[in-house]
Amino acid sequence: MSSLTKNYNRRKISFKKGSGSFLYTNNGRKYLDFVQGIAVNSLGHANPYLVNAINKQAKKLWHVSNAFVIPEGEKLAKRLTKKTFADFVMFQNSGTEATEAAVKVARRYFYSIGKPFKNRILCVKNSFHGRTLAAIFASGSKKMTEGFGPKVDGFDHFEFGDHQSLKKAITKKTAAIMVEPIMGEGGIKVIPDWCLRELRKICNKKKILLILDEVQCGIGRTGKFFAFEHAKVKPDIVPIAKGIGGGFPIGAVLMTKKVGLCMKPGSHGSTFGGNPLAMSVGNAVLDQLFKKGFLKNVKNISDYLHFELNKIKNEYPKIIKEIRGVGLLVGLQLFGDQTKFIKKLTDNNLLTIRAGENVIRILPPLNVRKIEIDQAIKIIKKVCKEIK
Ligand SMILES: *Cc1c(COP(=O)(O)O)cnc(C)c1O
Repeated sequence: MSSLTKNYNRRKISFKKGSGSFLYTNNGRKYLDFVQGIAVNSLGHANPYLVNAINKQAKKLWHVSNAFVIPEGEKLAKRLTKKTFADFVMFQNSGTEATEAAVKVARRYFYSIGKPFKNRILCVKNSFHGRTLAAIFASGSKKMTEGFGPKVDGFDHFEFGDHQSLKKAITKKTAAIMVEPIMGEGGIKVIPDWCLRELRKICNKKKILLILDEVQCGIGRTGKFFAFEHAKVKPDIVPIAKGIGGGFPIGAVLMTKKVGLCMKPGSHGSTFGGNPLAMSVGNAVLDQLFKKGFLKNVKNISDYLHFELNKIKNEYPKIIKEIRGVGLLVGLQLFGDQTKFIKKLTDNNLLTIRAGENVIRILPPLNVRKIEIDQAIKIIKKVCKEIK
């Protein structure tokens, strides 16, 4: 019997090694991995460039305290601010730490301008911002909060797409609105560009902050560095994680100067956050992502994937309800429960993962090759045929 707690319903497969888009089991079976650690391995498994970067750094220096200057982190922060809306970066180790730190920054900002009563965060009901106590109550889903009371106060909710309830929920105490531009766990639900722009306008009008959780949809996943760039909006605070480490745990909060100046020595910290090993890997990921044509290629190959998936949807309109998502953050929504479909895909050597609303998530590495997409399409078609 496993000595691990049972908080996961694990599939009975384990792997010996990975390479690019593929995973290999001990008995030599080869899977096409379109989970990639849930949008984490942005450059695939065992990417030689990342392997080299981590090896090089591992021989030099793994960890020093944030009591000292860490040049690798200075460099990564500089590059992130140069490429994005942000002026400051604060490193963490995971997505949930990043979202929680984002909430702290928003509150601290209003405290610093003499408005400490503005401390409530408005979130989408049943969104996903991670698993710390604050993050589960920010998400506001019963499934995640059940048994973990008392409730962490300070979060209010509105229903996805319900503009009236959103406007009503903003009070004098609201500090920020926090949303995922594309809800990942919730079922690859995209906030339309015009809605994001409207959100920005509301925040400006009410003088509150806009926090966009790009932990899953950011770092090139949609074909732009950040998903919100499609809408051409400028957020105030952006938590990131998953893809930025390419498989190594890194989280960060990006923020504007206006907001970031509120963070004074001692106001926040992290023992591991921003360590030289993590920062070197983060820099190596950016080396690849910032290469000319990389994001363009994500767009081109994802256009092809969406086109092919929609063809399957049209062929099997009674099985597939909708193809969701942007770029390589893709959801295949079924009419019924997706468990059997995912199992059949696995039986045919294609790994995918579920999300809310009967959605199967398809998350190839950002450097996926066309023949790998073709292989996946063939398997999905075969499973549709079997299920019909
Ligand atoms: C995964 C995820 C998180 C939590 O990240 P962890 O690294 O698991 O803590 C937060 N927000 C979003 C949108 C995510 O997809």
